[in-house]
Amino acid sequence: MRRLFISDLHLQPERPDISRAFHYFLSHIAPPCDELYLLGDIFEYWIGDDAPLPGLEPLLRQLRDLVDQGTRLYFMHGNRDFLVGHDLMAQLGATLLPEQHRLIIDGEAALLLHGDELCTDDVDYQAFRAQVRDSQWQQAFLSKSVAERIAVARQLREASQQQGAMKQEAIMDVNPQAVADIMDRHDVELLIHGHTHRPARHAQPRQDARGERIVLGDWSESGWYLEIRDGKRELIRFTPPPECTTQ
Ligand code: MN
Repeated sequence: MRRLFISDLHLQPERPDISRAFHYFLSHIAPPCDELYLLGDIFEYWIGDDAPLPGLEPLLRQLRDLVDQGTRLYFMHGNRDFLVGHDLMAQLGATLLPEQHRLIIDGEAALLLHGDELCTDDVDYQAFRAQVRDSQWQQAFLSKSVAERIAVARQLREASQQQGAMKQEAIMDVNPQAVADIMDRHDVELLIHGHTHRPARHAQPRQDARGERIVLGDWSESGWYLEIRDGKRELIRFTPPPECTTQ
């Protein structure tokens, strides 16, 4: 069984380098795989399935092709693309996962999450998160015109960038106690998340077991993925060769 995990691509029309890396990943790295997990912030922003980001159609088609070839595709919301809905899932043939998803991987209990809820030291962000993850807020937002939604999304992104620039590095990383708590609560040995853009493998000892926390990386002209195959875990960075062009 070959499982792949990615997050934090932040795909956007303004970044053809990221689209190129994803195109390479979908054509040269992912196939064949049994399961592909998209763990949030695949898109830099998403204002509704009725207004998809322009220019990404070929990549969405490649994802669909993978599904048609037998890969099970799973999608989890991040803090940028939490408005991805069932229409896009149907188009891709993907399954939408809850905010926290527990599963058994090669006999070990694992928890998948985007990771932003682990940044509990960032109090402002957690308040914002509670607001935009509220279904009433989301319904009100989605009922606006596309132009209004674009304007609101831009304001939110600018505010978040300004706040982020003023925050201490440590505040924007995960809180160690939040990590320990969530692994205890779900009784898992393995935690897989993204969001912090600090790709690494951390030993996360639990009472009896070895325990590990794997942080996925953010994409630029290079990409990151976690491969778990027959019990073997590898966090891999790749760069498409120069001759590889987009579509
Ligand atoms: Mn994120």
